[in-house]
Amino acid sequence: MAYARTSGKLFEPGKPFTLSRSKLELFITCPRCFYLDRRLGVPQVSGFPFTLNNAVDALLKKEFDVHRAKGTVHPLAQAYGVAARPLAHEKIDVWRDTKRGISYFHEPTMLTIFGAIDDVWVNDDGQLSIVDYKATSTLAPLTLDADYRRAYKRQIEIYQWLFRRNGFVVSPTGYFVYANGKKDRMAFDGKLEFDITLLPYIGNDEWVEEAVVRAHACLMNDTMPRPAKTCEWCAYRARAAEYEG
Ligand code: SF4
Repeated sequence: MAYARTSGKLFEPGKPFTLSRSKLELFITCPRCFYLDRRLGVPQVSGFPFTLNNAVDALLKKEFDVHRAKGTVHPLAQAYGVAARPLAHEKIDVWRDTKRGISYFHEPTMLTIFGAIDDVWVNDDGQLSIVDYKATSTLAPLTLDADYRRAYKRQIEIYQWLFRRNGFVVSPTGYFVYANGKKDRMAFDGKLEFDITLLPYIGNDEWVEEAVVRAHACLMNDTMPRPAKTCEWCAYRARAAEYEG
């Protein structure tokens, strides 16, 4: 199988550049992988597509769109005492499009940061709440406490930053709509059932601008950053290289 190089434009010092939310997240996780991808055109090895998660996302989107059109609060939000409706806005489909999303040009770095949301709700005071759909299957109680879920929280915070930079009034409270596939059924019977939970998250986007500045400085540097200590891949590569001819 051929190894694919990074598609699209690579960063060139001194020129404007577009950076997605997921690449900013990659910088936070490992500056070296980020540099390899965005500056040198060597992306991480691609994983399998999340087809079941995508199906859940598409169905949730349809369901919330019904309430967007009617201007009503979804029963899930009602059940949790949240009086926010899916926002009806002329740009909602752009913001949800992974190729376009919501963007902001950060003048000091000439980086355009963009990302595609799952949804945005509005409360009676006109404040927006960022909403993200998640799918999982676990018998454990759903929480945002696990370490890897820090990335989910950053996701909400980056979108809060983007919407604020676009002039919107954004509530610190965002929501995860969590679909949890039930494993405790007697039989599969050709269908997967889900429990849907609403998890609120109070975000703080104060770190985002600094991360954008640091990501830019990383790309400007002619030296590649060191590997992340917690990642097994580079350690694997280094170990395997010992046996290469
Ligand atoms: S440590 Fe992991 S994430 Fe970082 S460059 Fe190596 S493979 Fe990529």
